[in-house]
Amino acid sequence: MRLFDEKIILRLFLLFAGVFFAAFIPEIIESSSNVLFVIPYIFANIFLITVAITYRFPLIGSRRKMRHDVTIAQPHTGALPVRDIQKDLVEKNEMFQMMVDISASGFWTFDAATGKVYWSQKAVTLLRADPSKVSDTFDLLKTHILESDWLRFRDSLNSAMENGTNFTVKVTLLQKSTTEHHLQISGNVQKSDDGRPIRIIGAVNESADHTTPEKQDFYAYRDSLTGVYNRKFFLEKLKIDVDVSLQRPDYVFAVALLDIDSFGAINTSYSINVGDSVLRIVADRIKSQCRPTDTIARIGPDVFAVILHNIQSSGADSEVLPLVRRIHNTVKMPVQMEGRDLYISVSMAVALNNDVDCVEDVMANATASLREMKKSVNHGGIQFFSGGIREKAMKLYKLEFEIRRAIQAQEFVLMYQPIIDITKGNRVAGFEALVRWKQSEQGYISPAEFIPIAEETGLIIPMGALILRMACVQAKKWVDMGFEDIQVAVNFSAKQFAMDSMLDDIKKVLLETKLNPKNLKLEITEYTAVCEAEKTIEIMKALSSMGLQISIDDFGTGYSSLSYLKRFPIHTLKMDKSFVDYVAEDEEAAAFARMVIGIAKSLNLDLIAEGVEQEDQLEFLRNEGCRLIQGYYFSKPLPPELALGYLKEHYKPVDSVCRS
Ligand code: C2E
Ligand code: MG
Ligand code: MG
Repeated sequence: MRLFDEKIILRLFLLFAGVFFAAFIPEIIESSSNVLFVIPYIFANIFLITVAITYRFPLIGSRRKMRHDVTIAQPHTGALPVRDIQKDLVEKNEMFQMMVDISASGFWTFDAATGKVYWSQKAVTLLRADPSKVSDTFDLLKTHILESDWLRFRDSLNSAMENGTNFTVKVTLLQKSTTEHHLQISGNVQKSDDGRPIRIIGAVNESADHTTPEKQDFYAYRDSLTGVYNRKFFLEKLKIDVDVSLQRPDYVFAVALLDIDSFGAINTSYSINVGDSVLRIVADRIKSQCRPTDTIARIGPDVFAVILHNIQSSGADSEVLPLVRRIHNTVKMPVQMEGRDLYISVSMAVALNNDVDCVEDVMANATASLREMKKSVNHGGIQFFSGGIREKAMKLYKLEFEIRRAIQAQEFVLMYQPIIDITKGNRVAGFEALVRWKQSEQGYISPAEFIPIAEETGLIIPMGALILRMACVQAKKWVDMGFEDIQVAVNFSAKQFAMDSMLDDIKKVLLETKLNPKNLKLEITEYTAVCEAEKTIEIMKALSSMGLQISIDDFGTGYSSLSYLKRFPIHTLKMDKSFVDYVAEDEEAAAFARMVIGIAKSLNLDLIAEGVEQEDQLEFLRNEGCRLIQGYYFSKPLPPELALGYLKEHYKPVDSVCRS
């Protein structure tokens, strides 16, 4: 109790006033003639004294605040008032929840009896998780941190439940953020009276220990996304190993490259965040399988490299192979992402340090093996380097260089193979322009040898532009000579067709060469057409509206469906040579050829039979109603001068043919 409590002072004051006024009552009664005044006076006095003695004054102003701050409730001595236990519990829960929510730490609890896990809002935020997907399990943690960290956490939790030991685990978040991505997760065991763990109560906090100067240095050598070493550090370490191996011939090491196949597709079909998470998971998985001494780095956007140092030289292969297989098997396991299994394929190339004396050689061997692997049907597997690979790679590299040079030196020339209309007195309907590489006086190199490399290296783009221009210039010359209806077909590769600038480039060439679009035809393979069918349809529509014609080349080999064919605004199908080859001898081949001819007829398209070499093939096609023929039977591809001679001999204007 306080000496100067304002309630007591007020009470004493009122009491004093009551007594003071009561003292006048006898005098008032005596002197007053009016009873009506005396009675209210007496009652007012009694009221004043009653209030002074019995009224419980409320607290006011700063006194009220002070009281709240400092007074401690006195224990009840009498009977306890009746309390609503349910309400109490709800209030306590609310209070606990508020404390948890305003704390800078995240919280989690694990109930041993129910197995249920509770995550506070802050914990969910720190784990960069989606609040709408929080469940009462550890899935939230499992799917947001690195696999190895999750395994460490799970072990710590199990041992806490068995031995009652508290724990702290540092984990790395899968999703990289611009700020911190390491967390510290601790767990404290709550035990029952008999000492059994009944609950684990834990905290989640940001761990910001990499800000020390030493750590900053350390991070200069790290890939910031995955935490493994960067390319610079990797090459420095590789240099040391190469130097050691030069001094100690018995020292063996290996370089393994791991390339995630179709990584771009992961980024585009999911998101860049998912792509980042995949990279972090892959890095973590490599780490989990390598020996602690090995060097792991990310050396390209989706390429990891490992130096397997100091392999026992006796039977080096036998030590490397199981290790490499283990890494590869672990890395390519499905990744759980956004509640789904994401399948990843990883191509792995391994090169030992045999016969190499510099970093560049080791890397060239490993890269050549990787390239070989990625190109082969076995991509997604493991490829060990062998001498042959390097030789092949060198050959390819030289060829690529040569193609570049040949484009500059204009060594590519076009041959023209006539396309004959057998229903109009073997009239030349057009030519297909076929590229040749005139490398020396001795002869020409077939496109089969260089087109695939030009496609792979992207050189097909400048080369294709050159071919298109040459074909347009030639066609214009023939048109100007009077062969007005002649059509020249130019082959377009998938890469050319996919280029955003393709339409503009074609328009530009037509404008510059002054060629009427009706004299130009584009040939794209059936495979190119169906690969990205929807996009292809749009491009074809634009080409058609320009007045250009389109042929589907190698038709019958690309599995296009009739429904697509109907939607392609095309003019011609070119039946692949493989359908023509045996039509005269084999009933099955004949049936296939009839089917292709039937498809063209039903879609009202022109059909060109390619690769016709023999009379009986020609007769079969004629009987089946195939009008246009291309093949050695009539002519091989011809250089422009000979093509002109052929044209002069076999050209008839369309009008005259119609009249005849
Ligand atoms: P393609 O477009 O299907 O061209 C037809 C191929 O069949 C040509 O081979 C032609 O010479 C050949 N051929 C025609 N008639 C006969 C015949 O009766 N018997 C035999 N055995 N062969 C015949 P080539 O010129 O070697 O071209 C091969 C492929 O290279 C072409 O197949 C085409 O896909 C590609 N190609 C050729 N030139 C170019 C070009 O300028 N650009 C692009 N992107 N690809 C081209
Ligand atoms: Mg063609
Ligand atoms: Mg063809």
